[in-house]
Amino acid sequence: MGTSSNSNAELNPRTTRFEFSGVIGATFLSLFLPLFTVWINTRITPGALLQLDLVYYFNWAQSAHLWIPYLVWFVTLALLDVVLPGKWMLGTKLRNGKQLSYKINGIANSALLLLVLATRWQLTSGQMPELQFLYRHNTEIAVITILFSLYLATFCYIKSFIPGTLLALGGNSGNVVYDWFIGRELNPRLCGGLFDIKLFCELRPGMLLWFLVNLSCLHHNYLVVHGGAHVNDALLLITLMQSFYVFDGVLNEEGLLTMMDIVTDGFGFMLAFGDLTFVPFTYSLQARYLSTCTRDTGASKLAGIVLLMAVGYYIFHSANKQKSDFRQGKLTQMKSIATARGTKLLCDGWWSKSQHINYLGDWLISLSWCLTTGFETPLTYYYSIYFAILLLHRQGRDEEKCQSKYGKDWDEYTRRVPYKIVPYVY
Ligand code: NDP
Repeated sequence: MGTSSNSNAELNPRTTRFEFSGVIGATFLSLFLPLFTVWINTRITPGALLQLDLVYYFNWAQSAHLWIPYLVWFVTLALLDVVLPGKWMLGTKLRNGKQLSYKINGIANSALLLLVLATRWQLTSGQMPELQFLYRHNTEIAVITILFSLYLATFCYIKSFIPGTLLALGGNSGNVVYDWFIGRELNPRLCGGLFDIKLFCELRPGMLLWFLVNLSCLHHNYLVVHGGAHVNDALLLITLMQSFYVFDGVLNEEGLLTMMDIVTDGFGFMLAFGDLTFVPFTYSLQARYLSTCTRDTGASKLAGIVLLMAVGYYIFHSANKQKSDFRQGKLTQMKSIATARGTKLLCDGWWSKSQHINYLGDWLISLSWCLTTGFETPLTYYYSIYFAILLLHRQGRDEEKCQSKYGKDWDEYTRRVPYKIVPYVY
């Protein structure tokens, strides 16, 4: 008994360093972010259906018409994730020496979703009642996803106390609120390991719902605003650009296996809410704003926006690919620093421009999306501002991690590559 609790304490040391100013920050964000999501949605499309009494959403008899479609969506995607074929890949080595297997089947999932949508379009002669429902109840469904995230995070928190569970290094402080928020268990899994809650939530129910929310906006603009005769050009563009981004993420899901969210972070309310609510219901605000728009933007302005997105995507994609290829032992001719940890830090190509040149590309993409809405409201620019804060915070966390992991080798790397994100600026 004594030995097993000792080895458990060694494997899962107490967290002493707190993110987001600790318990106060975790409590504040758990309240503020959900309220902000609901608030900004009501501001973007005033008059949207919204039952303000929170008890309503806890009362099954009153809110079953919202809960049932969401649960069907979530559970169907979860079942498909388990059942549909895919290739199995190993994740990074964990600190208990194990490597988890992940089923990569984003292509099969996405193809099935698109097939169902095309069939429904045919069967309903373009009426698509599901999309109309999603459009009308958008903000109410956002509230449902907030409550669902709360339940899911609580379930994962309780599950993390099963003996032998590998905890996130940052989520074992012993404070209930903080650990629940930041995520206590590193890789919560169900069905004997077949179903990985974190990877699933990162890519399926939220990302694909974001795509559906955008589609519901396009459908509303086409059917209701323009009587089935036209669709706003900027709305069409944002839907195409964001669909590309969503499916690029879902189809290249193996890239996620080495990302901080999967490797380092536990799964708590922060990730559950981020994946299930924040992504679908705030990343879609540009489309939501444009859904009632009658005026077209014009080809020349849209061409400039496409160009900006293309530049951003090129930087984002080629930088990530260069690092991934390098890590897989390709690109041996590129300059690098051999570290005492045995791995190499690339300091050539994109990775000589800045330490996170990929973040710059990603941010340019976010800016191109906001620009589709013109300059009549600052609200749709929230995304670029929020994303800049997220990337700056992420860069700080990553720098701290790399500094403690690589020590002097990291100092040498930052000497050779001094800029953090934007070359010659920051
Ligand atoms: P990075 O892709 O920059 O990866 C950082 C990790 O890569 C480091 O911890 C280190 O890991 C390794 N590394 C760092 N520098 C080097 C180098 N020079 N050579 C080799 N390895 C290096 O960051 P993220 O994982 O945060 O982001 C990945 C992508 O996801 C980015 O493009 C980002 O923009 C995007 N993203 C998008 C979000 C969204 O909401 N849309 C949210 C977050 C990220 P190791 O310990 O293995 O050495």
